[in-house]
Amino acid sequence: MRYTFLILLFTATQLSFAQPLVKYAGSMSEMGKNDFKPSIQLDTIRNNQHLFALGPFGKMQGEITVLNGMPMVAQVQADGSARVSQTWKAEAPFLVYANVAAWVSYEVKANISNMNDLQNAVEQLAKQKGYDVNSPFPFRITTAITELTTHVVTPRSADMPGYQHGQNQANYTYQNTSGELLGFYSEKHQGIYTPKDSYIHVHFISNDHTQMGHVDKIAISDGTLKIQLPAKSMATGSIRIKTKDTDFSKGRLGNVQEVSMDDVVKFHGHLCDGLAVGFLGLKEALLQLYPDGIVDRTNTRIVSNPSPCLTDVAVYLTGGRYQYNTFYVNKISSLFIVQRLDNNQTLQIKLREGVKPKEIDSLGNLAVDNKLSSCELEHLRELENGFTDKLLSMSAKDIFEVTPLSNFTWKSSLSKTYVKTDVSNKKSPPCVIEN
Ligand SMILES: [Zn+2]
Ligand SMILES: [Zn+2]
Repeated sequence: MRYTFLILLFTATQLSFAQPLVKYAGSMSEMGKNDFKPSIQLDTIRNNQHLFALGPFGKMQGEITVLNGMPMVAQVQADGSARVSQTWKAEAPFLVYANVAAWVSYEVKANISNMNDLQNAVEQLAKQKGYDVNSPFPFRITTAITELTTHVVTPRSADMPGYQHGQNQANYTYQNTSGELLGFYSEKHQGIYTPKDSYIHVHFISNDHTQMGHVDKIAISDGTLKIQLPAKSMATGSIRIKTKDTDFSKGRLGNVQEVSMDDVVKFHGHLCDGLAVGFLGLKEALLQLYPDGIVDRTNTRIVSNPSPCLTDVAVYLTGGRYQYNTFYVNKISSLFIVQRLDNNQTLQIKLREGVKPKEIDSLGNLAVDNKLSSCELEHLRELENGFTDKLLSMSAKDIFEVTPLSNFTWKSSLSKTYVKTDVSNKKSPPCVIEN
């Protein structure tokens, strides 16, 4: 009984983000009481990959925004304009931040006349896409903005540069501008890192990164918002399978380990849709070959489709190796053919028709031929992230068709002419969006 309970608990916690996704230091409502004493130095978190952060700079000397690992500090100048500089040498009385390696984009039609409308648009989308809005999350929005008011805070004491008598901040208004909004959504941190009357804290960054500030007012008339939410695929550490190997170089069978999709991501080099397809599909078949849930990697062999993602999943999960004739690559009509050696049970794994968006394959073929621009590659990456997210919210039975093969002949091919498709664009420059 107790065992069953544990299993249920384990299933229920699948696909949770490495907690917590959003971190913070200090507090908006406490900082004044502590004379804006710094609670964090920005350079102590700079090594975290794909960092996104918001907060005031120094002793209310400006605004900090970190966008995908790029730090920006905005400060009011003597002439009243705000200047943005890139530096990690910044401290903050409070800061909210998250590391998000992958985002998924959604297009939302909206008519927005204030911050509350913006909050509702984000909340509605997140709920509709199955996010738990009780857990804080960051979001990014790119759109044409009809009207915008931002501020950059100014120091509270006359001896600090940028002090403006009788003012706490400088306001900036924009008409018909475009750029990116970086925000954090939380229903539980009002007065900590969101204002007392709001669930969102948002900064604006112009496309050329020369303008940045805290958003106070916004209007978007009949616009299309591209809203990005953290990819569910970041929860790949919670997708696991058990394996069994020998316990030392001359040891006996019995070393049971748990292998997660994250482990395979490290081996492969990146997370991609192919890796998710391979891991989830092969896991489904291996659990049929090994009903006790433990894959014997000394008793399994596999044929993989030539895709670099699929071959990496194949060797990692089955222990199949070319030199022992337990692994080979062939242009088979399925993803894999996997065989249990002690009973010859053989399964073929296919992706069901219509699961994968056709555009991913057509653009993918163009990419391999170096026919996509940097920004088109970026679009393809977003499509693949969206597909990976979709896979992670579906049941394996709906994604894959696993069928027994009764007369399969193992015939290792020695072809070494396959193209490693995931390095074709390794020298492509970054996608830069012009104003
Ligand atoms: Zn702010
Ligand atoms: Zn890959």
